Amino acid sequence: MTRPGETGAYVRNEGSAIAVALVYPNAYRVGMGNLGFQYVYHYLNNHPQFSAERFFRPDPAVQPSRRGHVPLSEESSRPLNSFSVIAFSIPFENDYPAVPGLLNASGIPPLQRDRGAADPLVMAGGVSVSLNPEPLAPFLDLAFIGELDQHREVTGLFAVLADALARSRYALTDRRGFLSAFRDTTGVYVPSSYDFTYGSDGLIREIKHLPGFPGRVRAVKRVSTDLPVPVSVLFSKEAEFGESLLVESNRGCGRGCRFCAAGWIHRPVRYREFSAFKQQADRAIETGRTIGLIGSDLAGHPELEDILEYIVDRGGRFSLSSIRPEGLSDKVIRLLARTGQKTATLAPEAASQRLRKVIGKDLPSDAFHDLVGKLVSQGIPNIRFYFMVGLPTETDEDVEAIVEFVSTARDIFVKASRPLGRIGRIGVQLNPFIPKPWTPFQWAGMAEAQTLRRRIRLVQNGLKRRPNLVIRSESVPQALLQGLISRGDRRISAALTAAGARAKSRPRLVGTESLDPVFYLHRERAGDEVFPWDVVDHGIAKQTLRRIYVASISVPPDSSQR
Ligand code: SF4
Repeated sequence: MTRPGETGAYVRNEGSAIAVALVYPNAYRVGMGNLGFQYVYHYLNNHPQFSAERFFRPDPAVQPSRRGHVPLSEESSRPLNSFSVIAFSIPFENDYPAVPGLLNASGIPPLQRDRGAADPLVMAGGVSVSLNPEPLAPFLDLAFIGELDQHREVTGLFAVLADALARSRYALTDRRGFLSAFRDTTGVYVPSSYDFTYGSDGLIREIKHLPGFPGRVRAVKRVSTDLPVPVSVLFSKEAEFGESLLVESNRGCGRGCRFCAAGWIHRPVRYREFSAFKQQADRAIETGRTIGLIGSDLAGHPELEDILEYIVDRGGRFSLSSIRPEGLSDKVIRLLARTGQKTATLAPEAASQRLRKVIGKDLPSDAFHDLVGKLVSQGIPNIRFYFMVGLPTETDEDVEAIVEFVSTARDIFVKASRPLGRIGRIGVQLNPFIPKPWTPFQWAGMAEAQTLRRRIRLVQNGLKRRPNLVIRSESVPQALLQGLISRGDRRISAALTAAGARAKSRPRLVGTESLDPVFYLHRERAGDEVFPWDVVDHGIAKQTLRRIYVASISVPPDSSQR
């Protein structure tokens, strides 16, 4: 029995299928809006040997009847500890504390080494796990690195898992022996088979592994274009984008912004031909669903204008996850307006030309300002800007440039709105920069809390009391938490457990545990430092990232014209 108003859930009672508890360690509303989570759910329920039931972080405020904090499956209200396989799908690092938290709440020992023959196998995948699985290492039997690929059904993770479970008769009496079956499985990381040694300075000296396991775990890339396009299969009014058909129309981005992990690890860039998801789009138009195109490089999709025109000409609606200014052609803007889009998002990320050059978003301010005029004139009343603060080499002057940039944008916005007889608003979102693994900025330190707060205030004060302007900023403690977990190693797992035990909706870690934020977060790392995430391999040479980092932070100050 699934939630009222939800459609698309699979309810399989086939005794022979291996039931997997698929866990999104955040609220139902958030997890259901995640296309990656939905894709795994669909994949497993169409796999000949598996079925999956969903779990989300219980929210007693929403579901008081669900026995408080005990996680129960959406499909059949089964408890988590009755499944032999638990698979966490985790796109965001701040949900890591919920992994030990949910295991604990279900009576499952959170630490892998404490689990016995009758305890389930626990694994995790998702973007954050692929970037750096190490903070979760002590909790996991397996981590999946990369993208699920149906072409690997015969040799991939789930084929090997089905075989190993059948051979062990579902009793993990010899867990280590069981896990050795995954030695040659591409994309599978078995953390208990790896040993990290540290120097007296706390830095990783060496990563050792058991015989037969790879020195580095190569990520799986779903490169075949003949596979079905990931689309949402579950719909619910309770969920973010709940009634939209989400379509992965593109994967990867070749733009190479220095801070963007998704852009780097999802290379090569892949575009899905419209013919591959036209049928689903037709059904969405017929049933009145908005079609949400998801992709990090929609601007580069060769059929973008044709797809949008097709939808709009048939009376359908679309939304775009985010799009680079280059993708906002006059035609795309007209189509956006026709589909009733009320807000367009632009992400300059930095306002001074010098800093945009440092971060690899080397577009002139005029390109953004021109778009403001065009978007408003075409009938899109609201504009949202994304900026980061705390970027490498950033100065107060760079941050003051945000004030100047937004002020100019606002003048253009007001002028373009006047003939229309109405005025919307400009939203400015300020996010602290986090140096993510697998990017050229992985060597950079994250700015300290007081610097971040001061720079956010600089923008807030510079723009205060301007009508039609709303400034929002991401919580600094949450950004620091994300930074610490992103860059952490298996030594932070005890702090994750403690945070998971007291987590309500927003776990805290930074400054409350015996972790040194300078060591994990704020110091610039040496060129030859071994990173915890060096144990995985996304096919990008570390020297290449290093070369780009060194060149980026050397952009001379004379290119600081705005
Ligand atoms: S354009 Fe966007 S998706 Fe592409 S690398 Fe830059 S930030 Fe990432």
